[in-house]
Amino acid sequence: MSNLRRITTPNGAPLQNLELPSRCDQCGNPRNKGNHRRCSQRRQALNKHKWMGRP
Ligand SMILES: [Zn+2]
Repeated sequence: MSNLRRITTPNGAPLQNLELPSRCDQCGNPRNKGNHRRCSQRRQALNKHKWMGRP
């Protein structure tokens, strides 16, 4: 019996979600390409309602 298996990847790193958002959610272009300053401003504007209405 081999019940001593640890839940790790072959290289020893713990399992985790490796699906990082490499693409811009605003323009759809890769984040490491192009200028996304407007995209981040847009994202902030979209998330503004989350910060508003606080006591
Ligand atoms: Zn973008």
